[in-house]
Amino acid sequence: MKVHLIRPKTDELYAPVKQVYSSFPPPVGLSCIGSEIRDRAEVSIYDGNIREPTLEADIIGLQDWVTTHKEALALAKRAKQQNPNCVTVLGGINASHLAPRILTNHPFVDYVVSGHGEPAMVGLVEGRPLDEVPNLYYREGGSVKSTKQKLVKSPFFDLEQVVEWECDEETPFPISAIRGCIKSAKEGICRYCSLFNERVNIISPEDFWTQIRTLKDKYGLTYFFETGDEFNVGTYPQRLLDARPEDLGDITLRIYTYPEILAQKGVIDTLARLQVRELYMGIETVNQGLLTNAGRQYNAGAVEGILEQMSLVGIRAMMPFMFGLPGETNDTAQENFDFSQRLLERYPETIKMMQYSLVVPIIGSEYFVMASTAKKVREAYEQNGKSLSRDDDFDYQKLTEFFIETFTEADTEFLKSLVIRGKKIAKEKGYLTSTFIGVGE
Ligand code: SF4
Repeated sequence: MKVHLIRPKTDELYAPVKQVYSSFPPPVGLSCIGSEIRDRAEVSIYDGNIREPTLEADIIGLQDWVTTHKEALALAKRAKQQNPNCVTVLGGINASHLAPRILTNHPFVDYVVSGHGEPAMVGLVEGRPLDEVPNLYYREGGSVKSTKQKLVKSPFFDLEQVVEWECDEETPFPISAIRGCIKSAKEGICRYCSLFNERVNIISPEDFWTQIRTLKDKYGLTYFFETGDEFNVGTYPQRLLDARPEDLGDITLRIYTYPEILAQKGVIDTLARLQVRELYMGIETVNQGLLTNAGRQYNAGAVEGILEQMSLVGIRAMMPFMFGLPGETNDTAQENFDFSQRLLERYPETIKMMQYSLVVPIIGSEYFVMASTAKKVREAYEQNGKSLSRDDDFDYQKLTEFFIETFTEADTEFLKSLVIRGKKIAKEKGYLTSTFIGVGE
């Protein structure tokens, strides 16, 4: 049996998302799935951003994110037209939230995986009865059914099935040791976040270094990006440090984390000893009223204190600034923007990336629910047959604008101008920059 796992090329609308790093590292989530089924099937993994995938396979698995949804559907349709017997499967964070809608709207998609892909693809490849395949949505008797959720730790992977990939020295290579978000598990999910599973699964420190060693020995990789939503799961960084083999002391890391954790005593020092080279710090605003609304417990002073400490140990920061949170005014947005500029002046060497975005009420987030249940947003958005309750593809540009008009007192054009200006300044000063899923420009 032939299985092709495909990361579709980024949809045209979201092309700016591609521009953060100089190269496009391989789809590690698909490599994890590939490693679980490769003794049962002949697996090829394609990255559509690098090479046009071929669709001659028994099963086509397509990674469906907001940024690749149109292309994933187009490939599924083409695969079905070429060979009606080909089984088409969509999975990934966007599909996970939209599974019933996708199956209702697109007859050429056979199944949608909602959640971790490994157990579902194993079940499909083995030909198990559909109701015994975990994490699956499927059609039966005119309705859409779903099976039980099964969460798994990330398996070991290598890149032997990836047809073509690239990763230059400036681009961290993704690994997936942590699944889920400890912040969400302990304190609840951030209101703009579309995280699918809240439970946290981590691989052991020993397995972490075994995975790293495999990738270093086979491909010479030494700079890694842990894609888990929050790296500081309890004492995990210290345990990694304790378990690190001597000959892997040259490994450097990029991680995701948030300021409430970084402000805790000793955390930054531990990250420095672990050779974290840069971290993405989940701040969105520094306006105290908006932070309190969002249930966040840091403030501008804490962020500066963190950057001060990071500058002493040589860790660089990637900072996201978000405009249009509920309650935003032009003044609070300006305050946030000015703070970002002050950071650039005070910590020019410590900052690596400045991300400027509008709040996007993305599917799966509380903000999407707020948007889709607000009469004013619905009336404005649901023109020309569009539906927030039935569609699986959204005009996030428009939805974002209507969300901002409804839930803030700020002027949308003013917020957009801050996004554009922030990116322009960052670029001119030589920093990496981006906009969350490309909306707001
Ligand atoms: S935004 Fe980040 S910190 Fe917040 S719940 Fe989502 S993954 Fe966790």
